[in-house]
Amino acid sequence: MDRVYNFAPGPSMLPLPVLEQVQRELLCYGGTGMSVMEMSHRSKMYLEIFEQAKADFRDVMGVPEGYTVLFLQGGATAMFAATAMNLMQGGSADYVDSGNFAHNALVEAGKYGTVRVAGSSREQNYTRIPDYTLDPGASYVHITTNNTIYGTRWSTLPDTGSVPLVADMSSNILSEVYDVSRFGLIYAGAQKNVAPAGLVIVVVRDDLLGHALPITPKVMDFKIMAEKDSMLNTPNCFGIYVAGLVFQWIRRQGGVAALEKVNIEKAALLYGFLDESRLFRGTAEKRDRSRMNVTFVTGDPDTDARFVKEAAAHGLVNVKGHRIVGGMRASIYNAMPIEGVRALVEFMKDFEAKNK
Ligand SMILES: *Cc1c(COP(=O)(O)O)cnc(C)c1O
Repeated sequence: MDRVYNFAPGPSMLPLPVLEQVQRELLCYGGTGMSVMEMSHRSKMYLEIFEQAKADFRDVMGVPEGYTVLFLQGGATAMFAATAMNLMQGGSADYVDSGNFAHNALVEAGKYGTVRVAGSSREQNYTRIPDYTLDPGASYVHITTNNTIYGTRWSTLPDTGSVPLVADMSSNILSEVYDVSRFGLIYAGAQKNVAPAGLVIVVVRDDLLGHALPITPKVMDFKIMAEKDSMLNTPNCFGIYVAGLVFQWIRRQGGVAALEKVNIEKAALLYGFLDESRLFRGTAEKRDRSRMNVTFVTGDPDTDARFVKEAAAHGLVNVKGHRIVGGMRASIYNAMPIEGVRALVEFMKDFEAKNK
């Protein structure tokens, strides 16, 4: 069977060369006579895979000294709680409510301390990144760099002064260059741009370790997990292995800067068509458009549904919008080749010609 162009928001496409390498190594990794899935996480062979993945992530992400990288579990959702438990210290934290996940993050954090909503676009259906004000006494400022469901992106990071900036980068990590030194904490569920589901990557500035609330579970305490090199208990061994292959693939593409260029080009193709279309229109404000999740509608739910169905019949699958917003969403992460975006735009043109 031929592979399709999969526009799913997550889990989502992985680079084909990575899948092929996984396939080649699946039954017998190196000279071990076993699969990575069957290895002890404490074995010499697995520790090599683990350390290489960590080093390659630091390299492609540009993680400077003074920051620790953790490979944890529980997804970004577990990190909503972990962030608050590790950094809140009984104080108040600023949250920018820019989408569904941003909202979930602040609700979860509210269980462990005081949350101040620094700005919200909830009333505008999250079609934009909201204006905000910052509390200089906050324990941290939390943002969601890319809002996966609504298709918006922070184009300029907030200047938080000496207050640590915390970012949920689940849907755009490694898709554009970030200066890690601007952040106190970054976390990202892997299933959008990096690996299969079940792995969450954490980058934490070392001075923020060691302040967790006493109730913090060990597996969520960044200091303990840092001391144990993410292996207090069994990590997501296979997910980390695949992530490591993706980091190497990123380097072969020329690194994140090279991918960013292609991602800008991919997004421009799709938005360019949406802006001249007589049938489709983008739903996010232009200023804040995501390069990873392109949300659009025809204005008629029946036509939307027919579009989604006919696109799938053409090998362009999972362009349905999130169930809470409807319409369409094309997720075009790193692994989506520009040919996939071109095929989608061509199909949209055909559909428009037949329906207008
Ligand atoms: C998908 C997503 C989440 C939820 O991730 P899980 O790994 O399923 O917990 C959180 N934040 C953002 C921005 C996401 O895109």
